[in-house]
Amino acid sequence: MMDLEPIDFELDGPGSQLNPFIRHLPKVELHVHLEGSLRPSTLRQLAARNKRETSELEMWIKAREKSKFRYGDFQGFIEAFKFTVMLLEEPKDYGFAAARLFEELASQQVRYVEVTLSAGVVLWRKQPLELVFEAVEQATQEAGKRWGIRTQWIFDAVRQFGVDPAREVLGWARRFRNRGVVAFGIGGDERQGPAELFVDVYREARECGLRRTAHAGETDGPESVLRAVNLLGAERIGHGLAAAADEKVMALLAQRQVPLEVCVTSNVSTGVLERFGSHPLRQLLRAGVPLTLNSDDPGLFDTSLQREMLLAAAHFSLRKDEVVQLCRNAIQFSFLPTGEKNVLTTELETAAGEGDKEKSKVNA
Ligand SMILES: [Zn+2]
Repeated sequence: MMDLEPIDFELDGPGSQLNPFIRHLPKVELHVHLEGSLRPSTLRQLAARNKRETSELEMWIKAREKSKFRYGDFQGFIEAFKFTVMLLEEPKDYGFAAARLFEELASQQVRYVEVTLSAGVVLWRKQPLELVFEAVEQATQEAGKRWGIRTQWIFDAVRQFGVDPAREVLGWARRFRNRGVVAFGIGGDERQGPAELFVDVYREARECGLRRTAHAGETDGPESVLRAVNLLGAERIGHGLAAAADEKVMALLAQRQVPLEVCVTSNVSTGVLERFGSHPLRQLLRAGVPLTLNSDDPGLFDTSLQREMLLAAAHFSLRKDEVVQLCRNAIQFSFLPTGEKNVLTTELETAAGEGDKEKSKVNA
């Protein structure tokens, strides 16, 4: 295992009486991008490793801190994503980034994670995807040994790059299917890369045994969620918050049990939502839509899975059983085999029950 600097970010969130309970729970993260997980400290380390001139990076970090990691709009976020991605120059940089991410996840009691790699961007940059995957694969194995974290990978294509590059991403996902790539997905500009374009690619993904996700209803309306489910057969939807604007779409998600991977701080940072509390989380829960909480791009949004849970508990006055249900959903809707889901569920139930016992001890 490579030597790592201590992590210099704050895991604390706002006040909720559930804070100690939430910190203690074993967790599952389903929606986190490796490239978006890079925090300023990691970006500085990457620049130093590659002997890059750092004045531009320091200015960029200062601007992020000044704006509290808000990008104004989605385009502003895309620019920031591009800036950080450019610091991943060599395959070993991806491995380093992955090791940093796993270390953070371990500190939040994360037991299982599905990490998204923007394979579409790696290929677009003409980087050797095979070597990039080897580097993250090695970090995955080391994190498993050192932290006990189980990881599977999702290869993501970029919607606006079109069909051929997406099919190329699928080809690589298929090639690495027996080495920990479990799913194929699309992200990016929903309007420039509508679902209709990717129907055949998703059918091919299903035929070769890959699971399917799609970012949808993040920057486009409820129709985009509907199309991701109906046309692509997406098994989980990234964000999907636009679904709340259409009763029929919520009913479809509830009926088919297609979960939304909720990433609230992300939506605030990219300007989709004005405030954390503006997220339609309660409305979606009332409609029976299954939800999970996620960090999306924790480095770019200065958040973490644990922080999202703490914030959600505080802003939406979540009860303890509702927090546990969100964790249970993350296990249930993960792409793990049933046996492993059962093990994680038992661990969760035990931890949640233990929390209760400790509390009654205090009260007694
Ligand atoms: Zn995402």
